[in-house]
Amino acid sequence: MTQTSCAPVHVAGAWDIYPPDGIGRRLRQAIKQVAWFCYLHCGWIQLRELVLKLLGRSRIVIIYYHRIGWVDVLSKPTSALRADLQYLARHYDCMTLSALCELLASGKKIRRKVAVVTFDDGYRDNYLAAFPELKRAGIPATFFVATGFIGTERVFPHDARAAASHVTAREDWPKMTWDELREMQQAGMEIGSHTVDHVNMGKADEMTVRQQAIESLAALNRELGERPRCFCYPWGKREDTSEVSRHVLREAGYVAAVTTQPGTVRRDDDLFALRRVDLGNGNMTCLASRAAIEGFGCGWLARLLRR
Ligand SMILES: [Zn+2]
Repeated sequence: MTQTSCAPVHVAGAWDIYPPDGIGRRLRQAIKQVAWFCYLHCGWIQLRELVLKLLGRSRIVIIYYHRIGWVDVLSKPTSALRADLQYLARHYDCMTLSALCELLASGKKIRRKVAVVTFDDGYRDNYLAAFPELKRAGIPATFFVATGFIGTERVFPHDARAAASHVTAREDWPKMTWDELREMQQAGMEIGSHTVDHVNMGKADEMTVRQQAIESLAALNRELGERPRCFCYPWGKREDTSEVSRHVLREAGYVAAVTTQPGTVRRDDDLFALRRVDLGNGNMTCLASRAAIEGFGCGWLARLLRR
């Protein structure tokens, strides 16, 4: 199946993403657009950046996507990714996650905003659609792959569930191959681990957690050469991580681990529980994406607009 054969699909039950047509929907969309625009242009972001710059503690944000070139809750169109990357290239220093860890470890003052762009799971459209856009924008990114899925036709459990409940059009999304990952790494991209089998590191027993951490790291280093590697918790909510998994990851030799808990990075954060911002929903408008990058996503106004 080609990339263009997947049309936007209706997301059952996701009212916020595909609300019913009508005046209510249009009004809500218009209010959201105005709120995002005001947030971006009222001067607050610029003032915040000026103060943080003077303190040498500019904003650090880690962004995550899943699939690129499609439209659903885990897929963003290529043109929308391009718009995000253009914004990031203009306003942020973009680097891989391990480069961010080095920067934090150096203790240097940070006087320009920093962004790390990440992709989860290892879908082949990351190579076909995202990689060319990243090269064009001059942005190195970090890709987290489940090593047991590389070059296979295995189906992720979340994709099987999404397809069964008609949230996405299909479940058999192609995965990247080792050759493609090698090419991306050679071009400056970073490849990290997302376990071997996309296992929940907060719920699995300690032996499984250890095996998933060690074997995926060994596979990456065997196929792509030894270098500092980062980790991404599958699902990544608070309950999908644990003290044991953080300890095991440190012991295995990883340099950092990211979650899907929303927020920015602060200097004193635990490097094995880093927060990220989700930009991967294909239904986000350009303004919504920029507002999310700049921290719109918490507080009573954001909660009200999500309804
Ligand atoms: Zn995942």
